[in-house]
Amino acid sequence: MTHLQEILAIIVLVALAGIGLTVGLLRSRGGKSRTLPRETGAAPRPGTDYAPGVGDDAEPPRDTPTRTVETTPGVDTLEAPPEPLPTPTVERPESAVGRLQRLRARLARSNTAMGKGLLALLSRGGLDEQAWEDVEDTLLTSDLGVEATTELVDSLRAKVKVEGATDEATVREWLRQDLLALVDPGMDRSIASSRVGTRPAVVLVVGVNGTGKTTTVGKLARVLVAEDKDVVLGAADTFRAAAADQLQTWGERVGVPTVRSDRDGADPAAVAFDAVRAGNEMEADVVLLDTAGRLHNKVGLMDELGKVKRVVEKQSPIDEVLLVLDATTGQNGLRQAEVFGEVVNVTGIVLTKLDGTAKGGIVVAVQRKLGVPVKLVGLGEGPDDLAPFDPEAFVDALIS
Ligand code: GDP
Repeated sequence: MTHLQEILAIIVLVALAGIGLTVGLLRSRGGKSRTLPRETGAAPRPGTDYAPGVGDDAEPPRDTPTRTVETTPGVDTLEAPPEPLPTPTVERPESAVGRLQRLRARLARSNTAMGKGLLALLSRGGLDEQAWEDVEDTLLTSDLGVEATTELVDSLRAKVKVEGATDEATVREWLRQDLLALVDPGMDRSIASSRVGTRPAVVLVVGVNGTGKTTTVGKLARVLVAEDKDVVLGAADTFRAAAADQLQTWGERVGVPTVRSDRDGADPAAVAFDAVRAGNEMEADVVLLDTAGRLHNKVGLMDELGKVKRVVEKQSPIDEVLLVLDATTGQNGLRQAEVFGEVVNVTGIVLTKLDGTAKGGIVVAVQRKLGVPVKLVGLGEGPDDLAPFDPEAFVDALIS
């Protein structure tokens, strides 16, 4: 190599070294990472720290939620129109007249055991002592009670003796008359639900918990709304946690206000007092007061109901006290009637769950026990399954 060639080689090498240095400097300046620095001790990331291979997760990982139109930035989303407020639909309850017709069939179904059994026995003709005992048993198992059963059997025996042989139609008519006499169509079964002078009528609804008290107050509100009455409900059963909510729901369905306390265990007398005051201020026709019925002992019940009564009466007389009894509880129901009868002045009975029993005789037994009429009957869990008690329809249903 000549001297000139040596000089040229040196120049080329120096130039190449210079270019390499410049590229290195440029790379180190412009290669600043745009990602967050990796945490100390974190695992090396495929695609970032080394080329991804088989077994490496895709970046972003497969199970990353896919973006939707709403979450994709830069996509204009139309603002959802505001939800229209639900318009409260107030139901129009069925009129009482309609109910009776519809419910007659149900009542008849629940009482066929008594009616059919009696007709079959009596129209057999030539009744011997055994047959009369069977008649008696049938009446007793229908909860008619010993006294009323004896009266009815005596009356029927007398008729059979006079008339001799009988056909079913005649027996049915005898039974009809005798049962009707026992149910006593002459009793006043109207419910105090109209304004008395310048104040609303006040109805206190009492009974053991579970008998259907709150449901009955709700259903009764519907009966009265169907008669165009202005009703106010008072949720004075403050011991059962859900009772006030339950009552309020019943009220809302027919546009009836409910006075309540938001606190469980609030003073029931105070709630009852407020409800009557609200009824006065709103010029309502009637205030219906639901109460708690803890039958732990008579003294406790007396204290509780007695206080509600006293406090309410500071501003208004109580016009009606309805005792709610579960028709399926038989003798137990009669004992409850007795205890409540001693504590408050019961003016009417509501017999619930008559749809679930073949023991329609309880109507007669309870009226005799308390000396007050059955005014309403519950015939199911539906909102309009409460009907004013009609003795003729009831007896017809019993022996249909
Ligand atoms: P309360 O504790 O006395 O207020 O009783 P509720 O009003 O909560 O009623 C107790 C249960 O009895 C509820 O499941 C009601 O639906 C049911 N119930 C009320 N009245 C009747 C009725 O006439 N027939 C039937 N089958 N069930 C009824």
